[in-house]
Amino acid sequence: MNSNEIKVFCPATVANVSCGFDVLGFALDLVGDEMIIRKTSNYGIKISKISGQKLPLETNKNVAGVAGLAFLEASPYSGGFEIEIHKKIKPGSGIGSSAASSAGAVWGMNELLGRPFSTLQLVEFAMQGEKLASDVHHADNVAPALFGGFALVRSYNPLDVVAIPTPTALFVTVIHPQIEIKTSDSRKILRTTITLQKGIRQWGNLGGLIAGLYTEDYGLISRSLEDHIVEPIRSILIPGFDEIKKAALESGALGCGISGSGPSIFALSKGKAIAEKVAEAMAGVYKNIEIDFDVHVSKINAEGMKKL
Ligand code: ADP
Repeated sequence: MNSNEIKVFCPATVANVSCGFDVLGFALDLVGDEMIIRKTSNYGIKISKISGQKLPLETNKNVAGVAGLAFLEASPYSGGFEIEIHKKIKPGSGIGSSAASSAGAVWGMNELLGRPFSTLQLVEFAMQGEKLASDVHHADNVAPALFGGFALVRSYNPLDVVAIPTPTALFVTVIHPQIEIKTSDSRKILRTTITLQKGIRQWGNLGGLIAGLYTEDYGLISRSLEDHIVEPIRSILIPGFDEIKKAALESGALGCGISGSGPSIFALSKGKAIAEKVAEAMAGVYKNIEIDFDVHVSKINAEGMKKL
């Protein structure tokens, strides 16, 4: 590879993390896409190749193209980029498939140009890609994909992202039942108002989770992984959700909830051995009700995007 070309590992991400709807997410270590990005003398973004999934090659229909154009428009660079996307994360799985491409594109371009933009600016460009995928400028997948570890979107306007330290023994188990839920559909079923009582429980838990992550207090992390607002509504779309959650908690998980807009379900555990036991228990539920699935156990990825 020369300096005009970069190969990037683009991590999958879990957004929402129970009590952090639209404001919290974290990156995975072993699950992710690969992208190859090359500088071109022609202005613009060309998606030259996609493997692994059927996705649009047109620049303005692919999240990598849209995010890339936002980057180019803000940059004095007069050339362009060619992008290859090698998809390992299935779109619509709820582990940030679109975010991996949007964030990967702008991260790779920034590296090739000698890092003219800050990570926060890259989040803003990548959010343009997210808008294409789900009609909403959400940042809770692209922020952890770019910052690594846990990332908190404290404010959207102006954008303010806080990188949260990751406890060393924290592992995630993610199970993906082979059904597709579009982010745009799972947003439509949500109510737009909540009661004050539910708000109080949610921000108590979110504060508790953040404090638990900073102090490596696994008990506090466990008590805080609750969501009384979105999970009761969205879980209806996910077959076997209640049994999976029960099985995960009985196997020692600290907490369990919907990954992003689903249908993937995540569980956090202290240590790899428990996370693997949780994976087995979750898989057992889907085997029983005959639903095909993928399951992954991963450390939290503290770095985010990586050059391969
Ligand atoms: P996820 O939560 O897994 O990202 P979404 O439903 O939010 O899933 O986004 C997937 C949507 O974005 C699909 O409609 C897909 O066609 C579209 N899309 C466009 N470009 C890409 C890309 N490069 N990677 C993934 N999805 C893409």
